[in-house]
Amino acid sequence: MPSIKRILVANRGEIAVRVIRACKEWGIRSIAVFSEVDRKALHVQLADEAFPLGGNSPQESYLNLDKILRIATDAQADAVHPGYGFLSENPVFAERLEELGIIFVGPTGASIRKMGDKTEARKLATHLGIPTVSGTLDPISDVSTGTESAERIGFPVLLKAAAGGGGKGMRIVKCREEFHTAFGTAKSEAFSAFGDDRIYIEKYIDAPRHIEIQILADTFNNILYLGERECSIQRRHQKIIEESPSVIVDDRFRKELGEAAVALAREAQYVNAGTMEFLVDSTGAYYFLEMNTRLQVEHPVTEAVTGIDLVKEQIRVASGERLVIRQNEIVVRGHAIECRICAEDPANNFFPSTGLLTRYQVPEGKVRVDNGFREGDQLSVYYDSLLAKVIVWGTDRSEAIGSMKRALSEFTVQGVKTTIPFCRFALEHESFIDGNFSTDFVERHFDSTRLTCGDDEEKIAAAVAGALLWTSEHQSQGNSEVIGPRREGRWKGLRFEGHR
Ligand code: ADP
Ligand code: ADP
Ligand code: MG
Repeated sequence: MPSIKRILVANRGEIAVRVIRACKEWGIRSIAVFSEVDRKALHVQLADEAFPLGGNSPQESYLNLDKILRIATDAQADAVHPGYGFLSENPVFAERLEELGIIFVGPTGASIRKMGDKTEARKLATHLGIPTVSGTLDPISDVSTGTESAERIGFPVLLKAAAGGGGKGMRIVKCREEFHTAFGTAKSEAFSAFGDDRIYIEKYIDAPRHIEIQILADTFNNILYLGERECSIQRRHQKIIEESPSVIVDDRFRKELGEAAVALAREAQYVNAGTMEFLVDSTGAYYFLEMNTRLQVEHPVTEAVTGIDLVKEQIRVASGERLVIRQNEIVVRGHAIECRICAEDPANNFFPSTGLLTRYQVPEGKVRVDNGFREGDQLSVYYDSLLAKVIVWGTDRSEAIGSMKRALSEFTVQGVKTTIPFCRFALEHESFIDGNFSTDFVERHFDSTRLTCGDDEEKIAAAVAGALLWTSEHQSQGNSEVIGPRREGRWKGLRFEGHR
Protein backbone atom coordinates (compact mmCIF):
# COMPACT_ATOMS: atom_id res chain seq x y z
CA MET A 1 0.00 0.00 0.00
CA PRO A 2 1.65 3.28 -1.05
CA SER A 3 2.34 6.14 1.35
CA ILE A 4 0.35 8.58 -0.81
CA LYS A 5 -3.00 9.30 0.85
CA ARG A 6 -4.57 12.07 -1.26
CA ILE A 7 -4.40 12.27 -5.06
CA LEU A 8 -5.71 15.11 -7.17
CA VAL A 9 -6.72 13.91 -10.63
CA ALA A 10 -6.04 16.71 -13.11
CA ASN A 11 -8.25 15.40 -15.89
CA ARG A 12 -11.80 14.53 -16.92
CA GLY A 13 -13.76 11.81 -18.74
CA GLU A 14 -12.91 8.14 -18.72
CA ILE A 15 -9.28 8.55 -17.65
CA ALA A 16 -10.20 10.61 -14.58
CA VAL A 17 -12.74 7.92 -13.67
CA ARG A 18 -10.12 5.19 -14.24
CA VAL A 19 -7.62 6.85 -11.88
CA ILE A 20 -10.25 7.68 -9.24
CA ARG A 21 -11.32 4.01 -9.20
CA ALA A 22 -7.73 2.86 -8.68
CA CYS A 23 -7.46 5.31 -5.75
CA LYS A 24 -10.66 3.96 -4.21
CA GLU A 25 -9.42 0.38 -4.47
CA TRP A 26 -6.38 1.38 -2.44
CA GLY A 27 -8.19 3.59 0.09
CA ILE A 28 -6.52 6.72 -1.30
CA ARG A 29 -8.70 9.86 -1.18
CA SER A 30 -9.39 11.14 -4.67
CA ILE A 31 -9.78 14.82 -5.48
CA ALA A 32 -11.46 15.83 -8.76
CA VAL A 33 -11.36 19.16 -10.57
CA PHE A 34 -14.03 20.24 -13.01
CA SER A 35 -14.98 22.88 -15.56
CA GLU A 36 -18.43 24.53 -15.68
CA VAL A 37 -19.95 21.99 -18.09
CA ASP A 38 -18.48 19.11 -16.09
CA ARG A 39 -20.10 20.15 -12.80
CA LYS A 40 -22.20 16.96 -12.71
CA ALA A 41 -19.79 14.73 -14.63
CA LEU A 42 -19.16 11.12 -13.62
CA HIS A 43 -15.59 11.81 -12.46
CA VAL A 44 -16.89 14.54 -10.13
CA GLN A 45 -19.55 12.27 -8.67
CA LEU A 46 -17.16 9.38 -8.08
CA ALA A 47 -14.37 11.39 -6.44
CA ASP A 48 -14.25 11.91 -2.67
CA GLU A 49 -13.80 15.66 -3.10
CA ALA A 50 -14.22 18.00 -6.09
CA PHE A 51 -13.12 21.55 -6.81
CA PRO A 52 -14.31 23.91 -9.56
CA LEU A 53 -11.82 25.24 -12.11
CA GLY A 54 -14.29 27.68 -13.65
CA GLY A 55 -14.65 28.27 -17.38
CA ASN A 56 -15.00 25.66 -20.08
CA SER A 57 -12.20 26.02 -22.59
CA PRO A 58 -9.20 23.79 -21.82
CA GLN A 59 -7.08 26.94 -21.23
CA GLU A 60 -9.50 28.18 -18.58
CA SER A 61 -9.95 24.78 -16.96
CA TYR A 62 -7.93 21.56 -17.33
CA LEU A 63 -4.90 23.35 -18.81
CA ASN A 64 -4.98 26.08 -16.18
CA LEU A 65 -1.73 25.20 -14.47
CA ASP A 66 -1.79 27.93 -11.80
CA LYS A 67 -5.32 27.16 -10.75
CA ILE A 68 -4.70 23.42 -10.53
CA LEU A 69 -1.55 24.01 -8.47
CA ARG A 70 -3.51 26.25 -6.11
CA ILE A 71 -6.27 23.66 -5.68
CA ALA A 72 -3.70 20.90 -5.12
CA THR A 73 -2.10 22.98 -2.36
CA ASP A 74 -5.38 24.04 -0.75
CA ALA A 75 -6.76 20.50 -0.87
CA GLN A 76 -3.51 19.19 0.65
CA ALA A 77 -2.95 16.67 -2.11
CA ASP A 78 0.14 14.47 -1.66
CA ALA A 79 0.20 13.75 -5.37
CA VAL A 80 -1.30 14.73 -8.71
CA HIS A 81 -2.16 12.22 -11.45
CA PRO A 82 -2.33 14.00 -14.83
CA GLY A 83 -4.01 11.24 -16.90
CA TYR A 84 -3.21 11.75 -20.62
CA GLY A 85 -3.51 14.88 -22.76
CA PHE A 86 -3.89 18.24 -20.95
CA LEU A 87 -0.93 18.79 -18.56
CA SER A 88 0.39 15.22 -18.64
CA GLU A 89 3.43 16.01 -20.80
CA ASN A 90 4.09 19.51 -19.49
CA PRO A 91 7.54 19.61 -17.80
CA VAL A 92 6.75 22.91 -16.06
CA PHE A 93 3.75 21.31 -14.35
CA ALA A 94 5.90 18.43 -13.05
CA GLU A 95 8.57 20.86 -11.83
CA ARG A 96 6.19 23.32 -10.18
CA LEU A 97 4.56 20.45 -8.28
CA GLU A 98 7.95 19.25 -7.12
CA GLU A 99 8.75 22.74 -5.83
CA LEU A 100 5.51 22.62 -3.85
CA GLY A 101 6.47 19.25 -2.39
CA ILE A 102 3.65 17.50 -4.26
CA ILE A 103 4.39 14.26 -6.14
CA PHE A 104 3.75 14.24 -9.89
CA VAL A 105 2.59 10.74 -10.84
CA GLY A 106 4.85 10.56 -13.87
CA PRO A 107 8.45 11.19 -14.91
CA THR A 108 10.60 14.17 -13.91
CA GLY A 109 10.35 17.44 -15.80
CA ALA A 110 13.84 16.79 -17.17
CA SER A 111 12.82 13.42 -18.65
CA ILE A 112 9.71 14.95 -20.19
CA ARG A 113 11.87 17.65 -21.80
CA LYS A 114 14.24 15.03 -23.18
CA MET A 115 11.70 12.51 -24.47
CA GLY A 116 8.58 14.63 -25.05
CA ASP A 117 10.34 16.61 -27.77
CA LYS A 118 10.31 14.35 -30.82
CA THR A 119 13.59 15.67 -32.26
CA GLU A 120 15.41 15.22 -28.94
CA ALA A 121 14.04 11.69 -28.56
CA ARG A 122 15.14 10.84 -32.13
CA LYS A 123 18.65 12.07 -31.33
CA LEU A 124 18.80 9.93 -28.22
CA ALA A 125 17.65 6.86 -30.17
CA THR A 126 20.20 7.52 -32.92
CA HIS A 127 22.91 7.89 -30.27
CA LEU A 128 21.98 4.44 -28.93
CA GLY A 129 21.98 2.88 -32.39
CA ILE A 130 18.21 2.32 -32.36
CA PRO A 131 16.80 2.76 -35.88
CA THR A 132 14.68 5.87 -36.44
CA VAL A 133 12.73 6.91 -39.54
CA SER A 134 15.20 8.72 -41.80
CA GLY A 135 14.77 12.46 -41.59
CA THR A 136 16.24 15.59 -40.03
CA LEU A 137 17.61 15.38 -36.51
CA ASP A 138 16.96 19.06 -35.86
CA PRO A 139 14.01 21.28 -36.62
CA ILE A 140 14.19 23.00 -40.02
CA SER A 141 15.33 26.62 -39.90
CA ASP A 142 14.06 27.83 -43.30
CA VAL A 143 12.32 26.69 -46.48
CA SER A 144 15.39 26.28 -48.69
CA THR A 145 17.31 24.09 -46.21
CA GLY A 146 14.07 22.19 -45.65
CA THR A 147 13.58 21.61 -49.37
CA GLU A 148 17.18 20.39 -49.70
CA SER A 149 16.76 17.99 -46.78
CA ALA A 150 13.47 16.70 -48.19
CA GLU A 151 15.12 16.00 -51.56
CA ARG A 152 17.95 14.19 -49.87
CA ILE A 153 15.52 12.08 -47.80
CA GLY A 154 13.32 11.50 -50.86
CA PHE A 155 9.66 12.39 -51.41
CA PRO A 156 7.09 11.74 -50.09
CA VAL A 157 8.09 13.19 -46.74
CA LEU A 158 6.15 14.05 -43.63
CA LEU A 159 6.47 17.44 -41.96
CA LYS A 160 6.02 16.90 -38.24
CA ALA A 161 5.71 19.21 -35.26
CA ALA A 162 8.49 18.60 -32.71
CA ALA A 163 5.89 19.12 -29.98
CA GLY A 164 3.14 17.19 -31.78
CA GLY A 165 0.71 14.75 -30.24
CA GLY A 166 -2.78 13.31 -30.60
CA GLY A 167 -2.26 12.80 -34.34
CA LYS A 168 -2.09 16.56 -34.88
CA GLY A 169 0.64 18.60 -36.57
CA MET A 170 1.53 16.27 -39.46
CA ARG A 171 1.54 17.07 -43.18
CA ILE A 172 2.47 14.84 -46.11
CA VAL A 173 4.52 16.50 -48.87
CA LYS A 174 4.53 14.51 -52.10
CA CYS A 175 6.88 16.59 -54.23
CA ARG A 176 9.31 19.53 -54.23
CA GLU A 177 6.69 21.95 -55.60
CA GLU A 178 4.43 21.37 -52.58
CA PHE A 179 7.14 21.96 -50.01
CA HIS A 180 7.07 25.74 -49.74
CA THR A 181 3.34 26.06 -49.01
CA ALA A 182 3.21 22.95 -46.82
CA PHE A 183 6.08 24.23 -44.68
CA GLY A 184 4.30 27.52 -43.96
CA THR A 185 1.00 25.82 -43.15
CA ALA A 186 2.63 23.17 -40.98
CA LYS A 187 4.49 25.81 -38.98
CA SER A 188 1.41 27.90 -38.28
CA GLU A 189 -0.68 24.80 -37.47
CA ALA A 190 1.98 23.61 -35.04
CA PHE A 191 2.08 27.00 -33.37
CA SER A 192 -1.67 27.22 -32.91
CA ALA A 193 -1.96 23.61 -31.67
CA PHE A 194 1.12 23.38 -29.43
CA GLY A 195 2.42 26.97 -28.99
CA ASP A 196 5.64 25.73 -30.63
CA ASP A 197 6.25 26.08 -34.37
CA ARG A 198 9.34 23.88 -34.71
CA ILE A 199 8.95 21.45 -37.63
CA TYR A 200 11.18 18.57 -38.71
CA ILE A 201 11.09 16.13 -41.63
CA GLU A 202 10.63 12.36 -41.69
CA LYS A 203 10.53 10.03 -44.65
CA TYR A 204 6.90 9.07 -45.20
CA ILE A 205 6.72 5.32 -44.80
CA ASP A 206 4.09 3.70 -46.97
CA ALA A 207 1.43 1.85 -44.99
CA PRO A 208 3.47 0.86 -41.93
CA ARG A 209 2.20 -0.84 -38.79
CA HIS A 210 2.21 1.01 -35.49
CA ILE A 211 3.68 -1.16 -32.73
CA GLU A 212 4.45 0.26 -29.30
CA ILE A 213 6.10 -1.00 -26.13
CA GLN A 214 4.79 -0.26 -22.65
CA ILE A 215 7.51 0.36 -20.10
CA LEU A 216 7.43 0.79 -16.35
CA ALA A 217 10.32 2.17 -14.30
CA ASP A 218 10.93 2.79 -10.61
CA THR A 219 13.37 5.13 -8.86
CA PHE A 220 15.81 2.23 -8.23
CA ASN A 221 16.83 1.85 -11.87
CA ASN A 222 14.50 -1.08 -12.49
CA ILE A 223 12.94 -0.76 -15.94
CA LEU A 224 10.54 -3.33 -17.34
CA TYR A 225 8.87 -3.77 -20.71
CA LEU A 226 5.33 -5.14 -20.68
CA GLY A 227 4.95 -6.43 -24.21
CA GLU A 228 3.63 -4.60 -27.23
CA ARG A 229 0.40 -3.08 -28.45
CA GLU A 230 -0.55 -2.93 -32.09
CA CYS A 231 -2.35 0.34 -32.88
CA SER A 232 -2.48 0.35 -36.67
CA ILE A 233 -6.22 0.89 -37.04
CA GLN A 234 -6.29 4.69 -37.03
CA ARG A 235 -8.18 7.66 -38.35
CA ARG A 236 -6.42 11.00 -38.78
CA HIS A 237 -3.18 9.42 -37.46
CA GLN A 238 -4.97 8.66 -34.21
CA LYS A 239 -5.65 5.17 -32.92
CA ILE A 240 -9.11 3.68 -32.81
CA ILE A 241 -8.63 -0.09 -32.30
CA GLU A 242 -5.67 -1.48 -30.35
CA GLU A 243 -4.61 -4.98 -29.46
CA SER A 244 -1.99 -6.99 -27.64
CA PRO A 245 -0.11 -9.02 -28.70
CA SER A 246 0.44 -7.98 -32.32
CA VAL A 247 0.12 -10.71 -34.97
CA ILE A 248 3.48 -9.67 -36.45
CA VAL A 249 5.43 -9.80 -33.19
CA ASP A 250 7.00 -13.06 -32.07
CA ASP A 251 9.02 -13.62 -28.87
CA ARG A 252 12.29 -12.65 -30.48
CA PHE A 253 10.95 -9.44 -32.00
CA ARG A 254 9.20 -8.58 -28.70
CA LYS A 255 12.51 -8.93 -26.88
CA GLU A 256 14.33 -6.81 -29.44
CA LEU A 257 11.78 -3.96 -29.30
CA GLY A 258 11.47 -4.30 -25.52
CA GLU A 259 15.21 -4.05 -24.98
CA ALA A 260 15.44 -1.03 -27.30
CA ALA A 261 12.64 0.65 -25.32
CA VAL A 262 14.32 -0.09 -22.00
CA ALA A 263 17.69 1.21 -23.26
CA LEU A 264 16.05 4.48 -24.31
CA ALA A 265 14.24 4.83 -20.99
CA ARG A 266 17.48 4.16 -19.10
CA GLU A 267 19.32 6.80 -21.12
CA ALA A 268 16.58 9.34 -20.33
CA GLN A 269 16.64 8.36 -16.61
CA TYR A 270 12.99 7.68 -17.05
CA VAL A 271 10.74 6.88 -14.08
CA ASN A 272 7.05 5.77 -14.06
CA ALA A 273 4.95 4.43 -16.96
CA GLY A 274 5.77 5.38 -20.52
CA THR A 275 5.46 4.13 -24.08
CA MET A 276 7.95 3.86 -26.93
CA GLU A 277 6.20 3.96 -30.28
CA PHE A 278 7.66 2.26 -33.37
CA LEU A 279 6.69 1.93 -37.02
CA VAL A 280 7.30 -1.39 -38.75
CA ASP A 281 7.47 -1.38 -42.56
CA SER A 282 6.37 -4.14 -44.91
CA THR A 283 9.86 -5.69 -44.90
CA GLY A 284 9.75 -6.05 -41.13
CA ALA A 285 12.24 -3.25 -40.44
CA TYR A 286 11.36 -1.20 -37.39
CA TYR A 287 11.93 2.46 -36.56
CA PHE A 288 11.58 4.32 -33.29
CA LEU A 289 8.88 6.97 -33.73
CA GLU A 290 8.38 8.80 -30.44
CA MET A 291 7.94 8.36 -26.72
CA ASN A 292 4.79 9.23 -24.81
CA THR A 293 5.88 10.21 -21.32
CA ARG A 294 2.57 9.33 -19.68
CA LEU A 295 -0.14 6.74 -19.30
CA GLN A 296 -1.54 5.84 -22.71
CA VAL A 297 -5.22 5.68 -23.71
CA GLU A 298 -4.83 2.02 -24.72
CA HIS A 299 -3.06 0.87 -21.53
CA PRO A 300 -5.93 -1.55 -20.63
CA VAL A 301 -4.97 -4.07 -23.34
CA THR A 302 -1.57 -4.44 -21.69
CA GLU A 303 -3.27 -4.80 -18.31
CA ALA A 304 -5.48 -7.54 -19.75
CA VAL A 305 -2.65 -9.68 -21.14
CA THR A 306 -0.14 -9.13 -18.31
CA GLY A 307 -2.48 -8.90 -15.32
CA ILE A 308 -0.64 -5.78 -14.14
CA ASP A 309 -2.62 -2.70 -13.03
CA LEU A 310 -0.62 0.10 -14.63
CA VAL A 311 -2.27 2.94 -12.73
CA LYS A 312 -1.60 1.28 -9.39
CA GLU A 313 2.01 0.63 -10.44
CA GLN A 314 2.30 4.30 -11.40
CA ILE A 315 1.14 5.30 -7.93
CA ARG A 316 3.42 2.72 -6.31
CA VAL A 317 6.58 3.94 -8.04
CA ALA A 318 5.57 7.60 -7.54
CA SER A 319 5.46 6.85 -3.79
CA GLY A 320 9.10 5.81 -4.06
CA GLU A 321 8.46 2.09 -3.83
CA ARG A 322 10.37 -0.56 -5.72
CA LEU A 323 8.74 -2.51 -8.55
CA VAL A 324 7.99 -5.96 -7.17
CA ILE A 325 7.72 -7.71 -10.53
CA ARG A 326 10.76 -8.81 -12.53
CA GLN A 327 11.17 -8.93 -16.29
CA ASN A 328 11.19 -12.74 -16.42
CA GLU A 329 7.89 -12.84 -14.53
CA ILE A 330 6.06 -10.82 -17.18
CA VAL A 331 4.04 -13.14 -19.36
CA VAL A 332 1.79 -12.07 -22.22
CA ARG A 333 -1.26 -14.34 -21.90
CA GLY A 334 -4.10 -14.67 -24.42
CA HIS A 335 -5.22 -11.75 -26.54
CA ALA A 336 -6.82 -8.38 -25.73
CA ILE A 337 -8.53 -5.85 -27.98
CA GLU A 338 -9.70 -2.31 -27.24
CA CYS A 339 -12.17 -0.23 -29.25
CA ARG A 340 -12.31 3.50 -28.67
CA ILE A 341 -15.91 4.69 -28.60
CA CYS A 342 -15.68 8.31 -29.68
CA ALA A 343 -18.49 10.77 -30.33
CA GLU A 344 -17.64 11.11 -34.01
CA ASP A 345 -19.47 10.43 -37.23
CA PRO A 346 -17.69 7.69 -39.20
CA ALA A 347 -19.97 8.47 -42.15
CA ASN A 348 -18.70 12.02 -42.21
CA ASN A 349 -14.94 11.61 -42.01
CA PHE A 350 -15.09 10.98 -38.26
CA PHE A 351 -16.26 14.52 -37.65
CA PRO A 352 -16.84 15.17 -33.91
CA SER A 353 -20.47 14.86 -32.87
CA THR A 354 -21.86 16.85 -29.94
CA GLY A 355 -25.20 17.02 -28.17
CA LEU A 356 -27.24 15.26 -25.52
CA LEU A 357 -26.70 11.58 -24.77
CA THR A 358 -30.38 10.69 -24.90
CA ARG A 359 -29.68 6.96 -24.56
CA TYR A 360 -26.47 5.48 -23.30
CA GLN A 361 -26.16 1.88 -22.32
CA VAL A 362 -22.77 0.21 -22.06
CA PRO A 363 -22.25 -3.52 -22.61
CA GLU A 364 -22.13 -5.98 -19.75
CA GLY A 365 -20.93 -9.54 -19.31
CA LYS A 366 -17.36 -10.64 -19.99
CA VAL A 367 -16.03 -7.21 -20.95
CA ARG A 368 -14.25 -4.21 -19.40
CA VAL A 369 -15.75 -0.81 -20.11
CA ASP A 370 -13.72 2.27 -19.12
CA ASN A 371 -16.40 4.89 -19.39
CA GLY A 372 -16.61 8.57 -18.52
CA PHE A 373 -20.23 9.44 -19.27
CA ARG A 374 -23.87 8.62 -18.53
CA GLU A 375 -27.27 8.99 -20.13
CA GLY A 376 -28.39 12.64 -19.95
CA ASP A 377 -24.86 14.05 -20.21
CA GLN A 378 -24.31 16.89 -22.65
CA LEU A 379 -21.26 16.45 -24.88
CA SER A 380 -19.60 19.78 -25.47
CA VAL A 381 -17.33 21.03 -28.22
CA TYR A 382 -14.54 21.82 -25.77
CA TYR A 383 -12.90 18.45 -25.21
CA ASP A 384 -11.72 15.22 -26.76
CA SER A 385 -14.40 13.03 -28.35
CA LEU A 386 -13.56 9.85 -26.40
CA LEU A 387 -16.62 8.57 -24.51
CA ALA A 388 -15.56 5.11 -23.45
CA LYS A 389 -13.22 2.24 -24.20
CA VAL A 390 -14.40 -1.33 -24.57
CA ILE A 391 -11.75 -3.93 -23.75
CA VAL A 392 -12.11 -7.68 -24.18
CA TRP A 393 -9.80 -10.60 -23.47
CA GLY A 394 -9.83 -14.03 -25.07
CA THR A 395 -7.60 -17.07 -24.98
CA ASP A 396 -6.75 -16.26 -28.59
CA ARG A 397 -7.33 -13.46 -31.11
CA SER A 398 -10.40 -14.93 -32.73
CA GLU A 399 -12.10 -15.40 -29.37
CA ALA A 400 -11.31 -11.78 -28.52
CA ILE A 401 -12.77 -10.60 -31.84
CA GLY A 402 -15.94 -12.58 -31.15
CA SER A 403 -16.25 -11.09 -27.67
CA MET A 404 -15.76 -7.57 -28.99
CA LYS A 405 -18.43 -8.03 -31.66
CA ARG A 406 -20.85 -9.28 -29.01
CA ALA A 407 -20.00 -6.42 -26.65
CA LEU A 408 -20.38 -3.71 -29.30
CA SER A 409 -23.73 -5.14 -30.36
CA GLU A 410 -24.94 -4.35 -26.83
CA PHE A 411 -23.56 -0.80 -26.72
CA THR A 412 -26.47 1.57 -27.32
CA VAL A 413 -25.92 5.27 -27.90
CA GLN A 414 -28.51 7.76 -29.08
CA GLY A 415 -28.24 11.51 -29.44
CA VAL A 416 -24.75 11.57 -30.92
CA LYS A 417 -22.96 9.62 -33.63
CA THR A 418 -20.23 7.25 -32.48
CA THR A 419 -17.36 5.16 -33.84
CA ILE A 420 -19.22 1.93 -32.96
CA PRO A 421 -20.37 1.27 -36.57
CA PHE A 422 -16.81 1.74 -37.79
CA CYS A 423 -15.41 -0.63 -35.14
CA ARG A 424 -17.99 -3.24 -36.10
CA PHE A 425 -17.05 -2.80 -39.76
CA ALA A 426 -13.35 -3.31 -38.97
CA LEU A 427 -13.97 -6.39 -36.81
CA GLU A 428 -15.87 -8.00 -39.70
CA HIS A 429 -13.31 -7.08 -42.34
CA GLU A 430 -11.20 -9.93 -43.65
CA SER A 431 -8.00 -7.86 -43.59
CA PHE A 432 -8.47 -7.26 -39.89
CA ILE A 433 -9.44 -10.87 -39.25
CA ASP A 434 -6.39 -12.06 -41.22
CA GLY A 435 -4.10 -9.67 -39.36
CA ASN A 436 -3.13 -8.27 -42.75
CA PHE A 437 -3.55 -4.52 -42.25
CA SER A 438 -1.59 -1.33 -41.72
CA THR A 439 -2.13 2.31 -40.74
CA ASP A 440 -3.94 2.99 -44.03
CA PHE A 441 -6.82 0.61 -43.14
CA VAL A 442 -9.45 3.38 -43.10
CA GLU A 443 -8.39 4.98 -46.41
CA ARG A 444 -7.97 1.61 -48.03
CA HIS A 445 -11.01 -0.29 -46.86
CA PHE A 446 -13.58 1.90 -45.19
CA ASP A 447 -16.33 3.14 -47.44
CA SER A 448 -17.98 5.66 -45.19
CA THR A 449 -20.55 6.69 -47.81
CA ARG A 450 -22.32 3.48 -46.92
CA LEU A 451 -22.96 4.67 -43.37
CA THR A 452 -25.38 7.49 -44.03
CA CYS A 453 -28.59 6.10 -42.59
CA GLY A 454 -28.85 8.29 -39.48
CA ASP A 455 -28.27 7.08 -35.97
CA ASP A 456 -30.72 4.22 -35.93
CA GLU A 457 -28.60 1.25 -34.82
CA GLU A 458 -30.37 -1.26 -37.04
CA LYS A 459 -30.03 0.88 -40.12
CA ILE A 460 -26.37 1.41 -39.38
CA ALA A 461 -25.83 -2.31 -38.94
CA ALA A 462 -27.52 -2.84 -42.32
CA ALA A 463 -25.30 -0.18 -43.86
CA VAL A 464 -22.19 -1.84 -42.43
CA ALA A 465 -23.33 -5.16 -43.86
CA GLY A 466 -23.93 -3.38 -47.19
CA ALA A 467 -20.47 -1.88 -47.15
CA LEU A 468 -18.98 -5.30 -46.49
CA LEU A 469 -20.91 -6.78 -49.35
CA TRP A 470 -19.83 -3.92 -51.58
CA THR A 471 -16.22 -4.45 -50.53
CA SER A 472 -16.25 -8.17 -51.17
CA GLU A 473 -17.95 -7.65 -54.56
CA HIS A 474 -15.27 -5.23 -55.60
CA GLN A 475 -12.60 -7.55 -54.35
CA SER A 476 -13.95 -10.42 -56.38
CA GLN A 477 -13.93 -8.12 -59.41
CA GLY A 478 -10.26 -7.60 -58.76
CA ASN A 479 -10.73 -3.87 -58.27
CA SER A 480 -7.60 -3.64 -56.18
CA GLU A 481 -7.01 0.01 -57.06
CA VAL A 482 -9.91 0.99 -54.87
CA ILE A 483 -10.21 -1.47 -52.05
CA GLY A 484 -7.93 -4.40 -52.85
CA PRO A 485 -6.97 -6.18 -49.65
CA ARG A 486 -3.60 -7.40 -50.98
CA ARG A 487 -4.72 -10.95 -50.27
CA GLU A 488 -1.23 -12.30 -50.72
CA GLY A 489 -0.49 -10.50 -47.48
CA ARG A 490 2.46 -8.19 -47.18
CA TRP A 491 2.65 -9.19 -43.54
CA LYS A 492 2.20 -12.90 -44.08
CA GLY A 493 5.16 -14.92 -42.97
CA LEU A 494 6.90 -11.79 -41.76
CA ARG A 495 6.73 -12.85 -38.14
CA PHE A 496 4.28 -15.45 -37.02
CA GLU A 497 0.57 -15.75 -37.00
CA GLY A 498 0.06 -17.65 -33.80
CA HIS A 499 -2.45 -15.19 -32.43
CA ARG A 500 -5.17 -15.59 -35.00
P1 ADP B 1 -2.35 7.74 -27.06
O1 ADP B 1 -1.00 8.18 -27.54
O2 ADP B 1 -2.41 7.50 -25.62
O3 ADP B 1 -2.88 6.69 -27.90
P2 ADP B 1 -3.80 9.91 -28.30
O4 ADP B 1 -2.80 10.25 -29.33
O5 ADP B 1 -5.10 9.35 -28.72
O6 ADP B 1 -3.24 8.99 -27.17
O7 ADP B 1 -4.04 11.19 -27.40
C1 ADP B 1 -4.71 11.10 -26.17
C2 ADP B 1 -5.22 12.43 -25.77
O8 ADP B 1 -4.14 13.30 -25.50
C3 ADP B 1 -6.03 13.14 -26.82
O9 ADP B 1 -6.99 13.90 -26.15
C4 ADP B 1 -5.03 14.03 -27.50
O10 ADP B 1 -5.65 15.10 -28.13
C5 ADP B 1 -4.18 14.43 -26.33
N1 ADP B 1 -2.79 14.74 -26.66
C6 ADP B 1 -1.82 13.86 -26.90
N2 ADP B 1 -0.64 14.46 -27.13
C7 ADP B 1 -0.88 15.79 -27.03
C8 ADP B 1 -0.07 16.97 -27.16
N3 ADP B 1 1.24 16.92 -27.43
N4 ADP B 1 -0.67 18.16 -26.98
C9 ADP B 1 -1.98 18.23 -26.70
N5 ADP B 1 -2.78 17.16 -26.55
C10 ADP B 1 -2.26 15.96 -26.72
P1 ADP C 1 1.56 11.72 -32.43
O1 ADP C 1 2.54 12.39 -31.54
O2 ADP C 1 0.52 12.63 -32.95
O3 ADP C 1 1.05 10.47 -31.82
P2 ADP C 1 3.30 10.07 -34.06
O4 ADP C 1 4.65 10.51 -34.51
O5 ADP C 1 3.25 9.11 -32.93
O6 ADP C 1 2.41 11.33 -33.71
O7 ADP C 1 2.54 9.45 -35.31
C1 ADP C 1 1.17 9.13 -35.25
C2 ADP C 1 0.80 8.27 -36.46
O8 ADP C 1 1.09 8.98 -37.68
C3 ADP C 1 1.57 6.97 -36.59
O9 ADP C 1 0.99 5.93 -35.83
C4 ADP C 1 1.48 6.71 -38.09
O10 ADP C 1 0.22 6.21 -38.46
C5 ADP C 1 1.61 8.11 -38.67
N1 ADP C 1 3.02 8.44 -38.95
C6 ADP C 1 3.86 9.16 -38.16
N2 ADP C 1 5.08 9.28 -38.72
C7 ADP C 1 5.02 8.60 -39.90
C8 ADP C 1 5.95 8.36 -40.95
N3 ADP C 1 7.19 8.84 -40.92
N4 ADP C 1 5.53 7.63 -42.02
C9 ADP C 1 4.26 7.16 -42.08
N5 ADP C 1 3.35 7.36 -41.13
C10 ADP C 1 3.71 8.07 -40.04
MG1 MG D 1 2.26 8.92 -31.21
